[in-house]
Amino acid sequence: MELFDQIITDSLMRLNPLTTQRWAYDPDDAWPDAGKSELILQRDMAFELGGSDQRAVNYCCVTSSESVDAQSETILCGPDLESIDADCSYARISLVRVSSLETTEDERYRQLCDAAFVKYRVFPKGFMIRSSPENHREQVRVSRDAIAHGLSFRSIGGAFIRAYQALPNFVSAKILFVTDQSADFEVLYRSAIDVDARIKALNTILSGLPADCASCKMKPLCDEVEGMRELHNQRAKS
Ligand code: SF4
Repeated sequence: MELFDQIITDSLMRLNPLTTQRWAYDPDDAWPDAGKSELILQRDMAFELGGSDQRAVNYCCVTSSESVDAQSETILCGPDLESIDADCSYARISLVRVSSLETTEDERYRQLCDAAFVKYRVFPKGFMIRSSPENHREQVRVSRDAIAHGLSFRSIGGAFIRAYQALPNFVSAKILFVTDQSADFEVLYRSAIDVDARIKALNTILSGLPADCASCKMKPLCDEVEGMRELHNQRAKS
């Protein structure tokens, strides 16, 4: 069951025309990690990605299919950090490929959650991430000093790929950063909601509640994702 393939395909199709740079992963590019959340004071910041109530979208999709190719890379859609001079809308999308999804559904659910939680273990120096999972937001305060020392999306993408590499069965990760202000952030935001809804739907099904498709609000999802309905029926019987 590939929960996210449609979202992955849509995201790549939508963002490919906006791509300004791509960098194949090189471990030497990965930005140093602070090891824990650091505080960047307002007086030391250059700007905030997603600041001033602008968009700050984040989601992570995991697949074992070729919807994500085997090359780890960072993809930038829009200007890089050194060319940004004020708060702006922003998105970071992680597409992670694994060699196989876990064999049992419970393990698979855990696998998806493990990938989604990687972001809480990435603390690039000078790049203060504030996540708000309930709003699907990832706002970032960027240090002026870090930019002066070479901080870029290439190095931040490298830091995230380095962290995803620790996942079991890891094959590749694509980290997409969107700073092009003409991008449709509303559509990206809806994708983030959709990713969250799919993980929650899987969780609900695994809880073993009886299947009642006629009155279930997840019906569109189960119509689209092969195997969801069979899984729920199996679970409800067990
Ligand atoms: S199988 Fe039916 S009841 Fe179960 S989540 Fe899907 S639509 Fe809902």
